[in-house]
Amino acid sequence: MRTAVLLTSGVGLMAAILSFGAGSPPPPQRVRVLVYHDMEGLAGQSDPATFRFNHQDAYPTGRKYLIDDLNAVIGGLFDGGATEVHVVDAHGSGNPDPDVVTADLDPRAKQVFRDRPFRQYVDLVAPDVYDAVVAVGMHAKTGSRGFASHTYTLGIEFQINGKTITESELVGFSWGRVGVPVIMVTGDDRLQRDLVTMPWIQYVVTKQATAADSAIPRPVATVHAEMRAAARRAVAERNRAKPMTLRGPIEAGLKAYAPASLAILEGVPGINYRDNTVTFSAPDFGAAYDGLVALINVARQSYSDIYREMFAARGEAEAQRMSREFSDRLFQRWLDVESGRWSPPPPTRPAAGRRYHGAN
Ligand SMILES: [Zn+2]
Repeated sequence: MRTAVLLTSGVGLMAAILSFGAGSPPPPQRVRVLVYHDMEGLAGQSDPATFRFNHQDAYPTGRKYLIDDLNAVIGGLFDGGATEVHVVDAHGSGNPDPDVVTADLDPRAKQVFRDRPFRQYVDLVAPDVYDAVVAVGMHAKTGSRGFASHTYTLGIEFQINGKTITESELVGFSWGRVGVPVIMVTGDDRLQRDLVTMPWIQYVVTKQATAADSAIPRPVATVHAEMRAAARRAVAERNRAKPMTLRGPIEAGLKAYAPASLAILEGVPGINYRDNTVTFSAPDFGAAYDGLVALINVARQSYSDIYREMFAARGEAEAQRMSREFSDRLFQRWLDVESGRWSPPPPTRPAAGRRYHGAN
C-alpha cells in the first residue's frame, strides 16, 4: 500500500527503488558449474572392466558407480549455491551413448550435447559460460602407479614447461585461459598426490590404488558424504580457487611409454626427439594441446604391435598364415592404387540429427 502511494510521482518512484535496494538482500548470484567426468577414479571401484564398454558384464556396474558419484557431487554443488550444473563425458568408454544414464542423473543437472563431435577439454572453453569446473572420477598421471593411471590415453606423458601433468591440470590450464578455476576433483590416493600443484581444490579420495588394475575402495557411503560436503565447500569458497594461466611461449613435450612409442621419429629432420620424447615450443596452450594430440596419434601407432603378438600366440603355422595374408593384402592395395582401382574411404561426417557427447 505504501508503495502504491510512493509510485504516484517520479520522485516517489525513486524513493521506492532506493528503499527497496537498502532493505533487501543482494540479488542471487549466478554460479554455473561444468562437471567433467571420467570413469577410472570412481568410489567403490577396483575392477578396470567396469570402465570399459566392451565388458558388458562389468560396465553397467561402472555406470552405477559413476551416477552415484555424480549425484553426490551435484547435490553438494547445489547445496553450496550453484545455480546451473552441466555434466560432460570426458571418458571415452567406447559407448556410442554417454556413460551417464540420463534417467538416473539428478534432474537439476544437464548433460552437454552438441550437433557435431567436440573435444571436451578444449572446445567447450569460452568466456562467461561457466564460473567453475569440477572433475569427477579422475585418474593419476602415467607413471604415478595409480589405478588405471594414464594421461589422455595409454602410455602417454604430457609435459608442460618441463613438468609432467595430469589430465586434471590439463583441464585447469584449458579453462584458465578464460579465467575459470577448477574447484574440486575426485579420484584415488595417487591422483591426490599428483595434484599438490592445485592446493586450492577440494579433493575427495575414493580409493587406495594398489596397482594399475587393483585398488582398495574406501567405504562408499563415507566417500559420498565427503563428496557432497566438499562440493558444497568448493562452490561456497570458489573465490579462493585459482585459475591456472600459462603465459606463452610454452615448452610442450610428449613422452611415450609402452604400449605407445615415439621411437619411429628418431632421425626425422625438424623434430626435437630424444628418449621417446618429442618437445616443441608453442605460442599458447591451444597450440601446445593441438601439437601434443598430433604426437599422440603418432605414438599410438605402435599399439598395433599387439596384433603381431596375438598372431604369434596362435602358433607358428597360424602366425605364418596371417603374415602371408597381411603381405598379400598390402601388395594388392599397392597394385590397386597403381591401377587406379582404389580410392580412400570417404571421411565420416557428423550424422544429421545425432547428438554428440564428445569427440566421437
Ligand atoms: Zn577415462
